[in-house]
Amino acid sequence: WLRSREAVAGHGRLVVLAGPTAVGKGTVSAFIRENFPEVLLSVSATTRTPRPGEIDGVHYYFLDDERFDAMVAADEFLEWAVVHNQSRYGTPRPPVAAALAEGRSVLLEIDLDGARQVRRAMPEAVLVFLLPPTWEELVRRLVGRGTESAEEQARRLRTATVELAAQDEFDVLVVNDDVERAAREVVDLLAVPRA
Ligand code: 5GP
Repeated sequence: WLRSREAVAGHGRLVVLAGPTAVGKGTVSAFIRENFPEVLLSVSATTRTPRPGEIDGVHYYFLDDERFDAMVAADEFLEWAVVHNQSRYGTPRPPVAAALAEGRSVLLEIDLDGARQVRRAMPEAVLVFLLPPTWEELVRRLVGRGTESAEEQARRLRTATVELAAQDEFDVLVVNDDVERAAREVVDLLAVPRA
C-alpha cells in the first residue's frame, strides 16, 4: 500500500491519526508539531467548550452550533462527526486542500467516524490507529489525567471499546508505549525528512 500511495508524487501525504480516548494522540501530535513543523497539523472546529488553557484557533476553533451548522451547509468540512455522543468536531477542508496542493503533508487527529469519512473521500489517505500497550494502561491514563468527570470517563471508555474493535479497518497500527518512538513511526508515514 505504501507504493500505491507514493504514486501521488509531488503531493504531500494525508495521514489520519485515530485511536481511543487517552491513548496519547495529543502527546504524539504535540511531539510532531514541535519537531516537524513542515507537517500541517489540522486544527479542528468543535462545538465543545474550551478546557482551561485551550486557545481558540490553536487547539480548536471553538464554534457555537449556528456557526458549525453554517460550515456544514457550505460543505466546508472534509469530515465531521458527533464524538462521545456529545459535541460536534470537524476538519475544515480549505487548509488541508491548500497544504496538499503545495506538497505539504497533513496530519488529522480525529475519531473513528471521521477516519471512515476520510477513507471514503480520499482513498489515498493513510489511516493510522494508535493503540495503548494494554487496556489497563488506557484506563490508568484516562483516570490519571483527571480532566473528565467519572461519568465522562465512563462514556469515553464505552467509545474506546467500540473504537478498539475497529482497528482492522486501519492501514497501520502503532503502539504508544513510548511517545517519541510512536511519533517517529507516524512521521515516517508522512514521508518527511528525518530529524
Ligand atoms: P477532546 O474533546 O478530548 O479534545 O476530543 C475528543 C475526540 O474528538 C478525540 O478523540 C478526537 O480524536 C476527536 N476529534 C477531534 N477533532 C476532530 C475532528 O475534526 N473530527 C472528528 N471526527 N473527530 C475529532
